[in-house]
Amino acid sequence: MEKRQKFSIWYVLLGIWVVLILQNYLTTMFAIKTIPYSEFLKLLKENKVIEVAISANQIQGKIKDDAAGKEQLFKTVRVDPDTSNLLEQYSVNFKGEIESQFLPTLLSWIVPVVLFFGLWFFLMKRMAGQQPGFMSLGKNKAKIYVQEDIDVNFEDVAGVDEAKQELMEVVEFLSEPGKFTEIGGQIPKGILLVGPPGTGKTMLAKAVAGESGVPFFSMSGSEFVEMFVGLGAARVRDLFEQAKQKAPCIIFIDELDALGKARGFGTVGGHDEREQTLNQLLVEMDGFDPNVGVILLAATNRPEILDPALLRPGRFDRNILVDRPDKKGREEILKVHLKNIKVSKDVDLSVLAGMTPGMVGADLANLVNEAALLAVRRKKKKAGMAEFEEAVERVIAGLEKKNRLINPKEKKIVAYHEMGHAIVALSLPGADPVQKISIIPRGIAALGYTLQTPTEDRFLMTKTELLNKIATLLGGRAAEEIVFEDISTGAHNDLARATDIARSMVKEYGMSAKVGQVYFAREKRNQFLNIPMEGAAEYSEATAELIDNEVREIINTQYAKTREILEQRRDVLDKGAQLLLEKEKIEGTELEILMGETASQSTEGRQQKA
Ligand code: ADP
Ligand code: ZN
Repeated sequence: MEKRQKFSIWYVLLGIWVVLILQNYLTTMFAIKTIPYSEFLKLLKENKVIEVAISANQIQGKIKDDAAGKEQLFKTVRVDPDTSNLLEQYSVNFKGEIESQFLPTLLSWIVPVVLFFGLWFFLMKRMAGQQPGFMSLGKNKAKIYVQEDIDVNFEDVAGVDEAKQELMEVVEFLSEPGKFTEIGGQIPKGILLVGPPGTGKTMLAKAVAGESGVPFFSMSGSEFVEMFVGLGAARVRDLFEQAKQKAPCIIFIDELDALGKARGFGTVGGHDEREQTLNQLLVEMDGFDPNVGVILLAATNRPEILDPALLRPGRFDRNILVDRPDKKGREEILKVHLKNIKVSKDVDLSVLAGMTPGMVGADLANLVNEAALLAVRRKKKKAGMAEFEEAVERVIAGLEKKNRLINPKEKKIVAYHEMGHAIVALSLPGADPVQKISIIPRGIAALGYTLQTPTEDRFLMTKTELLNKIATLLGGRAAEEIVFEDISTGAHNDLARATDIARSMVKEYGMSAKVGQVYFAREKRNQFLNIPMEGAAEYSEATAELIDNEVREIINTQYAKTREILEQRRDVLDKGAQLLLEKEKIEGTELEILMGETASQSTEGRQQKA
C-alpha cells in the first residue's frame, strides 16, 4: 500500500512538470514580446509601431522589428491613461479591446490540463493492470491471476520425490476427473505444502498444473490482506468464481499464514480485514465440491500459526512436507539448473552437493547463476569447478548473514546423537521401527530427527514398552557421552519427554513398586494461564520426594541400559554416524542392514578367536 502511494506521488510530480514545460512552450510559440512602456513610447516615436489594440490594462500590437522590417507581436502594460492622443500624433492604427484572452488561456492552461489528465488516466490504467484491484476495486480481471499454459513439469522440480509422489494422484485426477468420480474416489479439496522458503513449493504447485494441463490461479496470502476492508473477501469470492468457470484447475495460495493466522485475542481492531477474508475462504472451501475439479493448494513455512479451522477435515486436511533437500536431492537440483548454463567436465556435482548442506533449491539456483556470472567475468567459455567453489562461498556468506549454518563439529555431534536414538530403538524388542534418520540442518525439526512410526495404533502400552521408549529417548545423550566424552544441549527435548513418561509411570500408571498402585493426579493447571495452581498437590511432601526418587531411578536405570547397548554396538554407531554424515538422511532399513552386517561380522570374529 505504502509503496503504491509513493508511486502515484511521483506521477503527480511528473504531471506538474509536464504542464509547466508545455505552458512555457506554448507561450514562446506565440512569441509575444513583452516590452516596458518606456520602450513602447520610444518605438512609437521612432515610428516603428504599426498597429495596436488598447484594453484597460495593456496594449498589444505589432511593431516593426529592427532587422529586415519583420513584424513582431508585442505587449506592454498600459501606464499612461491617455495614449490615444499620442497614437493619433504618430498616426498609428488603433482600436479599443475588451480584455478577453480566450484563446491564449485555452491554449496555455486547458490544453496542458487535458493532457495531464489524459496521461494520468493512462498511467492509472496501466497500474491497475499490474496491480489487481487498485482501480477496479475487487473486480479483478481473470487474466490477472490465471496462467493457462504452464511450462513447469515435475522434471523441473528435483529432490522432492515424496512430495511429487503424493501430488501424482492430484495430477491423475485433474487429467481425467471423470475416471475418478466414477469409482467414487475421494479427492482432497485442499493440500497444504509445508516447508521452508525456497524449497520449491510454488514450483511444485505449478508443476501439478503443468503436468495436468489445467489453468493455474495463484495469489499470495498477503495480497488478500493489504487492501481496504471487505476487499479481500470480495477477491476470495471472485477467485473461486473464476476458478469454477475454468475447472478443472488449480488455485494456489502462497503464504497462507499471512491470511490464515489464528484468530484470537490480542488483535484488538485492525485485523477485521484479515478475519473477514479468512472467513470468506473457509466459506468458499466448504461450499465447493471437489468433483467439479478445483483443487486448492497452499504453501506455508509456519504451519503452527495457522488457524485450526483451516486444517479441519474438508479443508486443508492433507499436508505435504517439502523439507530442505538432502545431499542426493541437492545433487539432483543442481543437475536441473545446470541445464541452463555451459559447464566444463571437471565439475563434480556430488562434491558440490556435499559442500552445500542446508541449502534449498532457491539457494542452489542462485549458486549456479553466480558460477555462470563468475565464468563470464573471467572470460571463460564454460563454468568450471573453481567458479562453483567460489560461488558456494559467496552464497554461504550471504546465508550466514541471514541465519547461521551448522558447523561440521556440530553436525558430527548431531549425527552421533541421532544414531544413538536409532540404534537403541532397533536393539530393543518391541520398540517402534525406525523409519528415517536425518541430520539436515535447519529443516522443519530443529537439528536432526529420528522418525519412528508405530506399527499399529495402540491403546495400551506395557511397562516394558514404556521403559524401552525412555531408553530410546536417552539414546542420543548416551551416544554423545560415549563418543565425545562430553554432552550437549541437544538432548534437552529428549530428557523432557523421557522424564514425562517416567513421571506418568510413577504417578498415574502405578508402575513403581515403591510408590505402589496408587494414582496421584498431576498438578491441576490453571485453565486460562496454563500454570500450576498453588497448593494443588494431592499428596504429602514425603510422597513427593518418593515420587521424585522413583522417577530418577527409572531414568538412571534406563540410561545405564542405553549406554551398555551403545557401547556394545560402538562399531555400528561409528559406521552409522559416518553414513549419516555422508548422506544426511538414511532410511531405517539401511541401518538395519548395517546392524545385521556388523553383528554377523563380530560374531564371526569372536568365533575365529575362539
Ligand atoms: P517456495 O515456493 O518454496 O518458496 P519456489 O518454488 O518459489 O520456492 O522456488 C524458488 C526458486 O528456487 C525456483 O524458481 C527454482 O529456480 C528454485 N528451486 C527451488 N526448489 C527447487 C527444486 N526442488 N528443484 C529445482 N529448483 C528449485
Ligand atoms: Zn534427541
